[in-house]
Amino acid sequence: MFNKIKKLTFFIVMTLFIIACENKNKIETDKIKVLTTINYYTNLVEEIGKDKVEVISLMQEGEDPHSYVATAGDIRKIQDAELIVYAGLHLEGRMEEIFSKLSNKKKLNLSEKLDRQKLIKTEENTYDPHVWFNIEFWQEQVKFVTEMLIELKPEEKEFFENNLKKYLEELEITTDYIKARIEEIPKESRYLITAHDAFGYFAQQFGMEVKAIQGISTESEIGAKEIEELANFIFKKNIKAIFVESSVNHRSIEALKEAVRSKGKEIVIGGELYSDSMGDSKSNANTYIKTLKINTDTIVDSLK
Ligand SMILES: [Zn+2]
Repeated sequence: MFNKIKKLTFFIVMTLFIIACENKNKIETDKIKVLTTINYYTNLVEEIGKDKVEVISLMQEGEDPHSYVATAGDIRKIQDAELIVYAGLHLEGRMEEIFSKLSNKKKLNLSEKLDRQKLIKTEENTYDPHVWFNIEFWQEQVKFVTEMLIELKPEEKEFFENNLKKYLEELEITTDYIKARIEEIPKESRYLITAHDAFGYFAQQFGMEVKAIQGISTESEIGAKEIEELANFIFKKNIKAIFVESSVNHRSIEALKEAVRSKGKEIVIGGELYSDSMGDSKSNANTYIKTLKINTDTIVDSLK
């Protein structure tokens, strides 16, 4: 029933959208108007564009992109944007279908140009979309955004390139910080157990093993079998902590904790990790870099 309502809403929204496009009236401004999906990418565009861009995100803090359904209010945001920046690889579920139908907008699919050989494959022609958690991919995406901003505002080329250079340096420092902190966890304890499989690329870059109750999308089923298997794994490996996520219901991790307890082992919930959304502008995790550091501190302090 709920799925039917979702599908119906989607088609109503699509129709509204097409009507809206016909009445297109662009508001003139000096700044490049950018629309992003998840708020990590809002921060990315701002790091390079600074005061030359006006960026809004469709999805706010704590929003789950996998199940996101466009609202009527989103139509105006899409209509007003000069550039749409999104993750791709099916992260945004239905929104990607909407974007693919927009022929009169500049679009930047941030995962499209990444080397498929380096991505985590989940099925035939399907890849893990949470690429931002590998800083090397993020650095590439920052370059894609810079190129696009230069294309839209060539007179600011030097400004964007300077911002890129400084930001890439900050990312290098962040990489070193995370590497050093992960070293504090004994090698045999480097397991990251979460609700959904969002940290595969973090593990890829920083040498951890990840396991999650759900797959790469929160749209997949939560099975008793998966919880039981994971509880056995935690028991066998003597893992100290598991983690809830800011954009996912905490229920499944609570259930896992109970399953481990029923085997006679106590496990703690090590804290909340920012997965598919970073914090809002007022939180401590209001940039990509701060979010990565906070996540790392949460993980290391619970597992070391
Ligand atoms: Zn996700």
